Amino acid sequence: MKLNREREEEVIRFTQEMVRCPGFSGDESATAAVVARQMKKLGFDTVEVDRWGSVIGVRRGARPGPTFVFDGHMDVVPIHMPELWRCEPYGAEIADGKIWGIGTSDMKSGLAACLCAAAFVDRAEIAGTIVVTATVAEELMIGRGLGKILEGRKVDAVMTCEPTRAKRLAVAGVGRTTVEMSVHGLVAHSSQPHLGDNAVYRAMDASERIRKMPRRQDAFFGTDVIELVEIKSRPSPGNGSVPDHCWVLWECRLFPGETRETFLNRFHAAIKGFHGAEKVNLKIGRIVIDCYTGERLDCEDFLKAWTTPPEEPFRKLVEQALLQTGIQAEPVIFRGCTNANISAGEMGIPSLVYGPGNLDLAHKPNEHVEIEELLLSVKAYGRMIELMDQYG
Ligand SMILES: [Zn+2]
Repeated sequence: MKLNREREEEVIRFTQEMVRCPGFSGDESATAAVVARQMKKLGFDTVEVDRWGSVIGVRRGARPGPTFVFDGHMDVVPIHMPELWRCEPYGAEIADGKIWGIGTSDMKSGLAACLCAAAFVDRAEIAGTIVVTATVAEELMIGRGLGKILEGRKVDAVMTCEPTRAKRLAVAGVGRTTVEMSVHGLVAHSSQPHLGDNAVYRAMDASERIRKMPRRQDAFFGTDVIELVEIKSRPSPGNGSVPDHCWVLWECRLFPGETRETFLNRFHAAIKGFHGAEKVNLKIGRIVIDCYTGERLDCEDFLKAWTTPPEEPFRKLVEQALLQTGIQAEPVIFRGCTNANISAGEMGIPSLVYGPGNLDLAHKPNEHVEIEELLLSVKAYGRMIELMDQYG
C-alpha cells in the first residue's frame, strides 16, 4: 500500500469531516452519510446501511481468502463541562500535530484509518474480503450494532479500531454487566413503622452482603469489580411513608468464563439464608435505544470478557503486520468494553483491538488524536490486509 502525501491528507480531511458531524448514540445519521459517501468515493464494491443505521462497506480481493471485519463506532458522547474545552468540540482544528475535538480518539480517527487503508490497498494485493463496519449506538449499548451485522455472515476475524495509541495491541478485554436488585416490603405511615416492612433496610442488609462477597482474582485480568452505583426507593418523595420498594443497581466488570447464570448465582449465594431473602429479586439489567432509522435496539446489559490467544492465526498475522510496520506492539488488556466483547466474547470470532488515539482522553474535554498515530495506523491496517494471503 502506498501512502503518499495526497492520501495522508485524505485520511486527515476525512477524520475532520466526521468529527464535525455531531451524533450521540441513536443519532448518527450525519456521520453515517459522510461514511457512506466516503466508501463510495474510494471505490468500495458495495456500501449499505442496515436497519439500525450502521454502514457496511465491502471490498473484495482479486483472490480467495479470509473475511476480515474492520470496525469502528460512529457515535460520540455528549459534551460534559464545555467550559473546560479550549477548542471548539466539533471544530476538528489542527494544532501541535493533533486533530482536536470530540470523537477524535474515540474513535473517528480509527474508523477513518481503517476505511482508508481498506481502500488504499490495490485489489490485486488482497486475498479475501474486507468488510468495514461503521456501527451505531456503541457508547450506550456496546457491541449490539456490530452484532446485528455479524449475525448470519461468515467472518474469520474482527479488528476493533478503538484507541491503543497505534502502538499497543489489545488481545483481551474485561466483560461487563449491570445487576438490578429489586427489594420488596410493606408500606405504612412513618409514625408507625412497626406496621410496615422497610424495603430500604432490607436492601441495605442485602447490599452489605453483596459488598462483602469474595471477588475473583486473575493473574492477567486483576480483580473483578462489583460496585453499587445507584439506589432508588418508593414512594418518592418519601415523606410520611415507610418505603415498600427499593431498587439497587450494581455495575460489574467480568472475567472470562463468567456467564449470566454463574454471575447471578454469586449474588444469590451472598444473600442466601438472610431474613427476607425471598423478597429480594436479582436480574441482569437491560438497555433500550431508539435508532435514527426508527428501529429499536433492546438487549440485556451483559457482555462476556474475551481473549485471543497467541497461537490464534489472526493474532499472529496482526503481530506480523505490526512488526513489519515497525511497531513493537506490547500485548495488553483493553480496560474498557468494546465491540470485541460481542464479536469475540459472545460470538467467538477471533478479535483484537488496535487503533490511533488515547483511551485516557476519551469522553473528556480537549480530546485529540496525534496525526502521527493516525497515519501509522493506516499503514498498519494496510499491512494486515496485504498479509491476508498468509492467513491460517
Ligand atoms: Zn469507543
